[in-house]
Amino acid sequence: MLIVRNICLAFVALVCAGESVTAATVNGVRVWRAPDHTRLVFDLSEPVAHKVFPLENPDRLVIDVENTSFSADISSLELVKSPITSIRTGENNQKNLRIVLDLKKAVRPRSFSLAKNEQYGDRLVVDLYDHDKATIKTVEDVAAENNQRDIVIAIDAGHGGEDPGASGPRRIREKEVVLDISRKLKKLFDQAPGYKAVLVRTGDYYIPLRTRTSIAHKKRADLFISIHADAFKKPSANGASVFALSRRGATSETARYLAGRENRADLIGGAGSVRLDDKDHMLASVLLDLSMTATLSSSLEVGAEVLKSVGGLARLHKKRVEQAGFMVLKSPDIPSILVETGFISNPTEANRLASPSYQQKMANAIFQGVNRYFNNNLPVGTLLAARQTGSGSTYVISRGDTLSSIAVRHNVSVKELLRHNGLKNTRIRVGQRLKIPTS
Ligand SMILES: [Zn+2]
Repeated sequence: MLIVRNICLAFVALVCAGESVTAATVNGVRVWRAPDHTRLVFDLSEPVAHKVFPLENPDRLVIDVENTSFSADISSLELVKSPITSIRTGENNQKNLRIVLDLKKAVRPRSFSLAKNEQYGDRLVVDLYDHDKATIKTVEDVAAENNQRDIVIAIDAGHGGEDPGASGPRRIREKEVVLDISRKLKKLFDQAPGYKAVLVRTGDYYIPLRTRTSIAHKKRADLFISIHADAFKKPSANGASVFALSRRGATSETARYLAGRENRADLIGGAGSVRLDDKDHMLASVLLDLSMTATLSSSLEVGAEVLKSVGGLARLHKKRVEQAGFMVLKSPDIPSILVETGFISNPTEANRLASPSYQQKMANAIFQGVNRYFNNNLPVGTLLAARQTGSGSTYVISRGDTLSSIAVRHNVSVKELLRHNGLKNTRIRVGQRLKIPTS
């Protein structure tokens, strides 16, 4: 009796395992990309047992599903924004299904089954979490996320290549002197927190004037500084000067832009972007004129600060910011100044301008003037503005953040964070704004 029953049970078990009717099938796959993870959903004919594990070199994720076959079409899956490069499937003799995800980089997997409901059948969900974003975030990323961008300074060393600019005694050439000063100036801005400088010209080659301003636009510059050295017939002429665009130059430039010879929308499309292409001509002219006027008054202000600093170092050719119709100063939306660092045609000044120590002093003076200007005119959304307001910065919590990770990144304690934000516990939610105390 007992024996018979055992045999019977064994027989039943054998039938169950061997029955292909009971094997599940994967009928469909869907993929969803979230900011911090990718979700794969496998549609199943019935519930399955599964196992998920990663493999390295190259990074893969293996999904083993018991007693299942694969009959889904995955050819049109949108994988571009996911960490998955391709999906392979195979079945072994025991009718077990293996799904291999080839990955661009390692992920943290999480998987679970979902029982069928009115809308969907049984599903297997595999979430691929991006590897701890917080730990690989750079200071710049964090600053950018919190709208604390750097102020961008475009430094334009005049002339270059075929165009040597002014020449002085001992074959001292303007294009070399101004590139040296520009490089030193860039270094000063790059070292100062809250600033980033770009060199419009990085070597000995010529850049057309229009291209110089368009490079500044592409880099989203907050200020354009063109560096030059003067020359005059009389060797006695000396002194530094700072130029901004003349009102007449600005006005004629407005007309020129409106004539449609440039892409107006693109030029005005900086931060805070005023689009002109969808405005009528009259309104466009008013907007562009306002932009130009605002830019010009900023140019004159920053120019005055630079002149003040340079005046502490060099004799000034003129006591105030001069205005002329220089082509490189004609950006309607980037304050622009041109610094004539001295007269290269004057033997004494040429020698000074060619010396690295004087070049450094000149760079320091220009930097100080510009820095003073921006500290008095803090651009919204910049790191400089956040630091100056004294109340510290704001941090918007994103997925995966913890109070302690935020504290570490901002060099403050969790306790300080709690107190500064009037929080009673460390529970935080995505999108919540935290005030970061100045450390
Ligand atoms: Zn020049």
